[in-house]
Amino acid sequence: MTHSQTMEALSRIGTLLRSFAWQQAEAAGLTPTQAQILARLAARGPSRTGTLAADLGVTQPTISDAVAALLRKGHVVRAPDPEDGRAVLLRLTSSGRQEAEAAITPPPAIVAALETLPAADRDALQRGLVSLIRALQVARAIPVQRMCVTCAHFRPHAHDDAARPHHCAFVDAAFGDAALRIDCGDHEDAAEDDLAPLWARFSKVA
Ligand code: SF4
Repeated sequence: MTHSQTMEALSRIGTLLRSFAWQQAEAAGLTPTQAQILARLAARGPSRTGTLAADLGVTQPTISDAVAALLRKGHVVRAPDPEDGRAVLLRLTSSGRQEAEAAITPPPAIVAALETLPAADRDALQRGLVSLIRALQVARAIPVQRMCVTCAHFRPHAHDDAARPHHCAFVDAAFGDAALRIDCGDHEDAAEDDLAPLWARFSKVA
């Protein structure tokens, strides 16, 4: 497959994901950015607006407008940051949590399509996506992601089991490529010097 064909394939899937997200957001009376903020707060917990802007790759004015609307709608509230008395965190209200659940629901068509793939293909797909996202992260083309491949708890190819070769030391469990996380709440940054060896151990076994 040429790069242009890969772009075409990603674009087709991206169109479906965007279209579904917009429909979900519209049905909830939200803009797509507002829905994304709620989803990020559900994944990360209480956060500063600057962190949300960096996560979503949007400007400060855009995030400020969206947050103001979410405050008016009662989906988020401001709370003091226990780590910095001068800073403010945003956190979800119960209505915001409900909307966040809807916002992170995957399109049923994608779920059904994934179910048709053999397990080996799902593993290969997730592995390829993780590799692509890591390369974009290294090139600083996308915000930093909380991925297994950059996590201090990740033990790639720790098990002699083709279905579940990796190990998460945080939950002390083996897992396979299809379960590689892109945004994990338990992620802990690996030390800078450990990143390259970690990646080498993960990627040396195709
Ligand atoms: S804590 Fe999360 S990101 Fe880290 S290895 Fe475990 S599952 Fe992966």
